[in-house]
Amino acid sequence: MTTPFTYLEPAGLADASRLARQEGAMLKAGGIDLLDEMKEGLVAPEKVVRLSALKGMDRIEVKNGKLRIGALVTLATVAAHKQVREHARILAAAAGQAATPQIRNAATVGGNLCQRPRCWYYRHEDFPCRKKGGDQCFAETGENRYHAIFAADGPCHIVHPSALGTALAALGGQILVFDGQKSRSVAVEQFFALPSVDVTRENVLQPGEIIEAVEIPSAKGKKSAYHKQRERLAADWPLAEVAVVYEVKNGAADGVRLVLGHAAPIPWRCPTAESYLSGKKIDAGAAAEAARLAMAAAAPLAQNEYKVPLFTVLIARALMAAEKGEPA
Ligand SMILES: Cc1cc2nc3c(=O)[nH]c(=O)nc-3n(C[C@H](O)[C@H](O)[C@H](O)COP(=O)(O)OP(=O)(O)OC[C@H]3O[C@@H](n4cnc5c(N)ncnc54)[C@H](O)[C@@H]3O)c2cc1C
Repeated sequence: MTTPFTYLEPAGLADASRLARQEGAMLKAGGIDLLDEMKEGLVAPEKVVRLSALKGMDRIEVKNGKLRIGALVTLATVAAHKQVREHARILAAAAGQAATPQIRNAATVGGNLCQRPRCWYYRHEDFPCRKKGGDQCFAETGENRYHAIFAADGPCHIVHPSALGTALAALGGQILVFDGQKSRSVAVEQFFALPSVDVTRENVLQPGEIIEAVEIPSAKGKKSAYHKQRERLAADWPLAEVAVVYEVKNGAADGVRLVLGHAAPIPWRCPTAESYLSGKKIDAGAAAEAARLAMAAAAPLAQNEYKVPLFTVLIARALMAAEKGEPA
């Protein structure tokens, strides 16, 4: 049962930020994750600040070669929008394959990036794990088949759940953060933070800071792919996700960005594989070698070694799909 709370309607973005700074306040966008957390007894906000009515944050526009998507745009809109499909097709694919149609109609870009992890120990109120201020990571020696295979030193072994985060990191996206007075642009890779920085949080947002929009350099004309593997096709979280973006110059790959989702506590870039591919024509041999290099530093836990061959296959497939220009 949730505890009573006051529902606050901000007059604008600055007002929302002011209200969110108050003791016991939390922001709500689509409410998919926030309400789950309340029902699971993980949070009990005294004040819920409703973002949904804020003007202008539900727009998508293309300006100066950049795609700008407001934080309140729903995943369903991202998936279907003509300009997103044209300039950032893997983002449309990631949004369109996340969760279920009902969830995609309510869930927003900002909420997807800030959703909390799905680790079952974190989600269970009876397990006082490090993320909740405890002194133990129960996944270290417990049920860890869905956990991280990178960043093995912890101190927490979640995988970041955001499909949009994986795609945005591959696209070289920026996140526009409003701090109450002004906006600053944060590269997606700097936005997400490892548990070694602060185990209780997954990103660098400070209290009262609000994601206003995401900005993406147009990937029109670039090669790209987004692949994911789930246990079930319906309403399931991925076991593994791969997003890749690159240009072709003189017949060879250039500026490769290869990012793995559900592999680490943050969207996980693969610099060794990226450098290996740069300047090469991507064929089956190069794709297989890049996949091997990407997995070389993996350090699986007791029950998730299966993720290594799974990612190896998925990376090679995604690279070949991008090279052949298959649908994202
Ligand atoms: C069955 C199921 C399957 C799912 N599968 C997937 C999947 O495959 N891939 C995937 O990516 N997700 C998946 N999800 C998660 C779902 O996509 C997220 O819960 C949803 O996107 C959250 O968005 P929201 O707008 O509802 O956020 P909310 O629940 O409103 O907010 C989530 C968090 O973000 C904060 N927040 C919201 N907006 C902002 C903002 N603009 N600035 C700062 N903080 C903000 C809130 O305070 C809260 O802490 C699944 C969920 C379910 C229930």
